[in-house]
Amino acid sequence: MRSNTVWDPSRQPDPWTAGGSSWLDPDEPPPFEVVNPLGTANALLVCDHASNRIPRRLGDLGLSSSQLSEHIAWDPGAAAVARGLAARLDATLILGGYSRLVIDLNRPLESPELIPTRSDGIEVPGNQDLDPLARAARIAALFQPYHQAIARRLDAHPQPSPRLLSLHSFTPVLAGQRRPWPIGLAHGRDPRLARRLRRTLVPQGDWLVGDNQPYAVEDAHDFTLPTHGEGRGIPHLMIEIRQDGLLTAASIAAWVERLALAYEGLGEG
Ligand SMILES: [Zn+2]
Repeated sequence: MRSNTVWDPSRQPDPWTAGGSSWLDPDEPPPFEVVNPLGTANALLVCDHASNRIPRRLGDLGLSSSQLSEHIAWDPGAAAVARGLAARLDATLILGGYSRLVIDLNRPLESPELIPTRSDGIEVPGNQDLDPLARAARIAALFQPYHQAIARRLDAHPQPSPRLLSLHSFTPVLAGQRRPWPIGLAHGRDPRLARRLRRTLVPQGDWLVGDNQPYAVEDAHDFTLPTHGEGRGIPHLMIEIRQDGLLTAASIAAWVERLALAYEGLGEG
């Protein structure tokens, strides 16, 4: 367990005193969205890379609309699966409200990828040479509120040891390499929930289920599960679905149903 990274909202700078209140315009969406806040499932779903929205004050970050529609800006399809699963399981879901190109909600604050200057070979002009104040404003306006919302929800969860499920999607090809897994289950030092869900997921279809593929959960690159899952000692895992399996409403609904059946197969224990 990481001893120094448990997220304590009371020890974070107040986003409002750091300029957060005026950083987003009043008519812009909030930094996070809570779906089904009264959900009864003993689980919290989170979706770090749900949105490709850029705050108005940052324009388009110097990127084209087609670049902003691609995976460098968000996880296409992930939010739809997360919303479907939240409804199907009657679980609460928290989604990030803005693009990971503005600030990546799943990177440690010290990571060079927190506010990427390049992503998948594409330079992000609006992220070059940011001064400390500009970085602090993004952290205060977007990163802290999202993670405070997760922490508050877990603090207030009515049942002990809620399961934390983090939903992502990944590109079918990276650096010329075809990724063979339609779905991957990832974990850090605690593999227990990932292993259990693998056993209940495999019978839903004859797939190659990635085991810490295409990504593992690592302290250097991940924030959400190391902090809110491992940091609290609650069951947690990351679910990654390949984006070519999320291109239609029907295929998204099929993944929701498979994951729901697999989750229900875990039982209550
Ligand atoms: Zn992601």
